[in-house]
Amino acid sequence: MKKNLGIYVHIPFCVSKCSYCDFLSFDNCSYAVQLQYIDALIQEIKLYKAFADRYVVKTIFFGGGTPSLLDEVFIGNILKAIRSVFNVDRFPEITIEANPGTVKYTNLLAYQSHGINRLSIGLQSTDDDCLMMLGRIHNMDQFVATYNSARRAGFKNINVDIMSGIPGQTEHTYVETLMKVIEFGPEHISAYSLQVEDGTPLAENEPVLSMLPDEEADRRMYAMTKKVLGANGYQRYEFSNYAKPGYECKHNITYWTGGEYVGLGLGAASFFKGERFSNIRDINRYLEIMQEAQSDIASSTDKISVYDEVTHQLRENIETMYIDSRIEEFMFLGLRMTKGVSRSEFLNRFNKDIYEVYGPVINKYVTEGFMVEEGDSIRLNDRGIDVSNIILSDFILD
Ligand code: SF4
Repeated sequence: MKKNLGIYVHIPFCVSKCSYCDFLSFDNCSYAVQLQYIDALIQEIKLYKAFADRYVVKTIFFGGGTPSLLDEVFIGNILKAIRSVFNVDRFPEITIEANPGTVKYTNLLAYQSHGINRLSIGLQSTDDDCLMMLGRIHNMDQFVATYNSARRAGFKNINVDIMSGIPGQTEHTYVETLMKVIEFGPEHISAYSLQVEDGTPLAENEPVLSMLPDEEADRRMYAMTKKVLGANGYQRYEFSNYAKPGYECKHNITYWTGGEYVGLGLGAASFFKGERFSNIRDINRYLEIMQEAQSDIASSTDKISVYDEVTHQLRENIETMYIDSRIEEFMFLGLRMTKGVSRSEFLNRFNKDIYEVYGPVINKYVTEGFMVEEGDSIRLNDRGIDVSNIILSDFILD
């Protein structure tokens, strides 16, 4: 029987860098580099011919960077390559991230014709001052235009990303963002708190940092997210993700439930054939490796040897997932989801009862009122989610 697989495609290009961004992305990349990158991605897809027939691809996710910055023909070419190598499910979930101001109606129509059926729009805030603080390239009007064009083009599954804890943001402007986004009626909303990452321009901008909402305000905004979205038909299904019933992101659920996925492109992470690894982060080296491998990938009959040789150069941080790591990860990721972890699934995967491994820690947090046992499920409640960092660290095995 074929196994399910998710595919993530990393597009590391942006119009300009947002002040808080520590994602692997570059601004001002030439068209020539973009072309080379697409060629490299297509070579990387072909590498998987050695194993592809064992899988059925259920989800594909174009993330970045700003995938919508690429010519839609390139996106079509990548999908064509994926379909020529892998068995793609008849009804896959195919998502592309788009930033307002980078897509027009015609681009969105083209995405639809390529089979892309989910659009994830990076809005962050409906307040133009907040957007400026973050160094976003767009304003609210551009979001409205993008959103309306997406609906007109036929997108029936749209996610909107929003952010709390932005410098200068008040609880009032945050709730306004929530309410305005709700009015548009996207099927899914991702709501994250801004993290100030070392090495970003934001981390060095003292005047702007002094405008960050304090910890208490940040916590209240986080609590308001669930309250306001919950009252408007969005269910929290993961710490930071909310959906109307039936619109949970299948691709991300693959990550959180320990499913297999392949990450294609620069720096992309994978969990494939029992190993976790990521691709190298040096774009020149990535392009070079894939270009050198091109003729072997095309002509060699020994696909497995070519795969081994090329991936040996392409990958780093390779971790074989032995039983303890797999158990820990099952708990860390599973407890991020509001439905929690399944006791029977634990037994099924690891041939052990969950209480044999985690009995004392589960009992402690249930007794203290941070976790709930309900039938087959063990989950964090709202109190538990608030202090999840502390709780999850107790699930590390000695
Ligand atoms: S659009 Fe996203 S990836 Fe690009 S610079 Fe901004 S935060 Fe980073």
